[in-house]
Amino acid sequence: MAAEIRLFPCLSDNFGYLIHDPMTKATASIDAPEAGPIVKALQREGWTLTDILVTHHHEDHVGGIAELKAKYNCRVIAPHDKGAEIHQVDERVKEGDTVKVGNLTARVLETPGHTLDHISYMFDHEHALFCADTLFSIGCGRVFEGTYPMMWDSLLKLRALPNNTRVYCGHEYTASNVKFALGIEPNNPALKARAEEVAQLRAANKPTVPTLIRDEKEANVFLRADVPTVAAALGMTGKSPSDVFGELRERKNKG
Ligand SMILES: [Zn+2]
Repeated sequence: MAAEIRLFPCLSDNFGYLIHDPMTKATASIDAPEAGPIVKALQREGWTLTDILVTHHHEDHVGGIAELKAKYNCRVIAPHDKGAEIHQVDERVKEGDTVKVGNLTARVLETPGHTLDHISYMFDHEHALFCADTLFSIGCGRVFEGTYPMMWDSLLKLRALPNNTRVYCGHEYTASNVKFALGIEPNNPALKARAEEVAQLRAANKPTVPTLIRDEKEANVFLRADVPTVAAALGMTGKSPSDVFGELRERKNKG
């Protein structure tokens, strides 16, 4: 039986995610923005929370842990705490570790930049990537703790995943990201198609995720810092991809 994934809104623009193994009934929440919507989603499905897989220390990703742990006594998996302490952690994981959710297996990818501790969880068999605030659809996270080359390397790591990987990111920022990206690549056909799709989804109040790595490679300007036409659009022909990436990120910060 295939894994089941549910997504639902949390806080103002975070996504809550549950991944469920029908064989063993194990259920993991990816991060814990707030307990209420996660408990509701579990009750709707008749599932019990067994694990929380934490991506990074920001409050809008860990704020619900204490309440969920008190209610379900679930296991909490988290990265190292070089950035800031995450409380009530049962297991720390690093690059290359695997995490079992019942019979499902996630591979841990270190994707620092947004924070130093940021990790992503890749469920290879399910073709499902949970990358929180590293890669967004048509965007990427702000670089708060790391450097631009560090974040660019993290994005390259995610870009190298198989084309059919579904990307489950941490926030619904796609419409704003599309607007910015069109300013850089107004004639990118993949981006224009995505812009139309996103407008329709948002008008229907539907989420714009998951998306596919294949589509992000074609339409997400932050994954295209090594494409010569993108460097040229910024007046940075011949500059390194991480410099071009840094310029994109700074323009988006201001925009
Ligand atoms: Zn964050």
